[in-house]
Amino acid sequence: MSDCLFCKIIAGEIPSIKVYEDEHTFAFMDIAPLTKGHTLLIPKTHCKDLFEMSEDVARNLYAAAPKVANAIKAAFNPAGMNTINNNGAEAGQTVFHYHLHLVPRYDEKDGLVVNWNGRSQEFPPD
Ligand code: IMP
Repeated sequence: MSDCLFCKIIAGEIPSIKVYEDEHTFAFMDIAPLTKGHTLLIPKTHCKDLFEMSEDVARNLYAAAPKVANAIKAAFNPAGMNTINNNGAEAGQTVFHYHLHLVPRYDEKDGLVVNWNGRSQEFPPD
């Protein structure tokens, strides 16, 4: 899609810090990382969100997800990882090319407020 930011990143028209690439998928560092190593995994085939994603695209994307997660784990040694995907502006989506956030988590004091499911959880929890 010609006016899509993430399609331009895949094409190399906009620079990114590439983490992984195969025939079907591309992963790169988020420009505004929630934690160290925050990465976005995207399909090369443009689709707006999960509702538009074909089974083939989903299969290829999620086949790459463990590889990317383990590469992040090897590089940054996090204690855990959140995988997050926002679909629709009302759900917090701001870039309308499907992307899976891989957010490494370090400990309960990494300062990140989790608010992915409508609940807000401050760390450390009460
Ligand atoms: P969303 O809010 O779930 O749609 O996530 C969009 C993500 O894209 C945010 O975490 C942004 O920081 C990230 N982002 C926006 N523009 C760029 C860019 O040019 N390079 C890398 N990440 C970006």
